[in-house]
Amino acid sequence: MRIVMLGAPGSGKGTQAKMLESDFGFPQVSTGDLLRAAVAAGTELGRRAKAAMDAGELVSDDIVLGMIKERVSEPDAAAGYVLDGYPRNRRQAEDLEGVLESLGQKIDAAVLMDVDFEMLMKRLTGRRTCSKTGKLLNIYFSPQSEIDACLEAGGELVQREDDNEETIRKRLEVYEQQTAPLVEHYAAKGLLETVRAEGTVDEVYSRLCEALGLSRPVV
Ligand code: AMP
Repeated sequence: MRIVMLGAPGSGKGTQAKMLESDFGFPQVSTGDLLRAAVAAGTELGRRAKAAMDAGELVSDDIVLGMIKERVSEPDAAAGYVLDGYPRNRRQAEDLEGVLESLGQKIDAAVLMDVDFEMLMKRLTGRRTCSKTGKLLNIYFSPQSEIDACLEAGGELVQREDDNEETIRKRLEVYEQQTAPLVEHYAAKGLLETVRAEGTVDEVYSRLCEALGLSRPVV
């Protein structure tokens, strides 16, 4: 299956895409993660992307298109993938259609992760990663035991550079102006599924699987 995850920053696209990857094997393809890796590795592409990322603006369409083309052509993406954070504007949606056409592929579903504004702010301002285990945590929502487990393992709660209040506001504004119109784009193609993305991660995941017609593996 090829799935596009739509939704504002903080709507849980990445968390849910990782769960789909681990249960069904569709790799999560996150342009944000690919860009952060390029920045961390200090590549030319990373240097070109960093200023836009720090400001909460979109990186150029051509940079992300190059990354997407390369990633979805890799062998592990042959049977499907979950696009997390791409496309983010109309031009990228058209670029994606061109890439898919050249590979003889098509999108099966676009999922809108629907969360209200106040909740997004809390999720983003509270978001932390454990430096030891890489686990995603939230200082407002994670159980104290999970936060303690990170600290006791010698980890630190690290905040993403672009998760500060000013950049968050800009990212949400960019989402409203440039990305939200894609909801209509995919609805017009008959591909849109809307998932209420509030409640526990597990509840949201159940709704997501149901919307995609996937049966959750029994644990
Ligand atoms: P994310 O992790 O998806 O929230 O992305 C973090 C930042 O990476 C965004 O604020 C943008 O600066 C950049 N970015 C990620 N995906 C894209 C994309 N598809 N197009 C342009 N910029 C992107």
